[in-house]
Amino acid sequence: MAPGENGELCWSQDEGDTNALQIVIVGGGLGGLGAAIGALLAGHEVVVLEAATKIGEIGAGIQVLPNSARVLFSWGLHDVLEPYATTPKYCHFVGWRGNRLGAMNYHEYGRAARGVFWDLHRADLHRCLLNRVIDLGGHVMTSARATGLSVNEEDGDASTSTTTVTLADGRQITGDLVVGADGIKSNIDELLVGRTHPPTLTGDIAYRLLLDTRKPDIMDDPELRNMVEEPQVTYWVGPDKHAVTYVLRGGHQLNMVLLVPDDMPLPAAQGQDSTSSEDTLATGAGTADEMRALFDGWDPRISRLLATCDADSVLKWRLAIRPDSNPSRSWSHPSGSATLLGDAVHATLPYLASGAAMALEDGGVLGLCLARICDKSRASKRAALAVYEARRRQRTQNVPERGSHNQHVFHLHDGPEQRWDAQWFAEGKSARTD
Ligand code: FAD
Repeated sequence: MAPGENGELCWSQDEGDTNALQIVIVGGGLGGLGAAIGALLAGHEVVVLEAATKIGEIGAGIQVLPNSARVLFSWGLHDVLEPYATTPKYCHFVGWRGNRLGAMNYHEYGRAARGVFWDLHRADLHRCLLNRVIDLGGHVMTSARATGLSVNEEDGDASTSTTTVTLADGRQITGDLVVGADGIKSNIDELLVGRTHPPTLTGDIAYRLLLDTRKPDIMDDPELRNMVEEPQVTYWVGPDKHAVTYVLRGGHQLNMVLLVPDDMPLPAAQGQDSTSSEDTLATGAGTADEMRALFDGWDPRISRLLATCDADSVLKWRLAIRPDSNPSRSWSHPSGSATLLGDAVHATLPYLASGAAMALEDGGVLGLCLARICDKSRASKRAALAVYEARRRQRTQNVPERGSHNQHVFHLHDGPEQRWDAQWFAEGKSARTD
């Protein structure tokens, strides 16, 4: 990319030179970078616009499930990512008092699904994706917040269409295709067609913390040590909340996520009915004492793990979904020059660990569809985007539905329904994402 005479951004190739599309991706999260790799491998030119001043991921661990692992491998990332990955053998489901409910053999399931279960630090996954984008010749711009979009079309299917993105600082860039990968607070739809599709709060908060497993409090405790030395994912489920743990980075860190009812006050100006403002989805700060109080009386392993947390404050995230509730609502602009991907269109509860996975899969499928484009006409792009949506629609509806079902199953109180649902855990159904 280069600045033009009037401050606009120019592509390095003259657009008349080639049939390769010039693709602008709004958002440099896991979904946006995945889409960039898919599009670059399909032979197109790509620029990623990221609003943040520095590119990177916050948060802690991420579970990579077999379907998305296959996509990462198809992008040539197996050998690059493997050194950073932990491969858990089992996913254990445990009742809140520590009673065993069921287990799933991740090695067997991963093999059967022709993939793997990996646990990664988000920063490692993000950095490897970013490096791959740059190696493939993609451009990534930071401090590049998209604030305006306009579609430029000529009449007739044989003609072309483009979308111009305006940045907060007034610079503009025009692409044959704009991909909105700007996450759960996406306003691409609003900017393009004035249609809002706001996120909906689910009533859950996630505390996310990383514990240092090299501390004697963990390594001298046989039960906790076992969780580190035999990599496993553990779900503790019980009344109104649940907890998840797994180790990262060669076992040096233990990722802990606590999912509890939302107690954060809503911003006064928004009121209880508002679900769409940035403020409503904001994070807050929690303390270790607060977490210990929430899980008082649960399996003592949880409180012993929390006792090792010496952070002054821990981030807590208000959870929201963006259900794709209207199957007839297209993700793409009729001009064929803009579409959506990842949390921007189907943000889900993280109760199947599949939000980022679906965003990566979207990028893989979009790349395959764009690889079959033979010209820049509006008709070609529309056809490719129609196939992309058709291939992704069912899965991106099923997974969020099952994530919401797990919100119920994971938070059952003691009683007959919980005993009935033990079968659900014993068969590992709560974790299956295929
Ligand atoms: P995002 O990650 O939100 O990225 C959007 C990017 O766009 C950001 O970098 C943002 O700065 C940028 N942006 C926004 N607006 C603009 C703009 N106007 N202009 C330019 N840039 C912009 N998923 C899994 O697969 N496995 C897990 O184990 C897992 N665990 C989770 C645990 C928790 C507690 C939570 C909350 C989520 C979890 N998820 C998990 C879900 C996963 O984090 C998300 O689904 C995933 O990050 C979505 O990626 P994305 O690229 O679509 O959006």
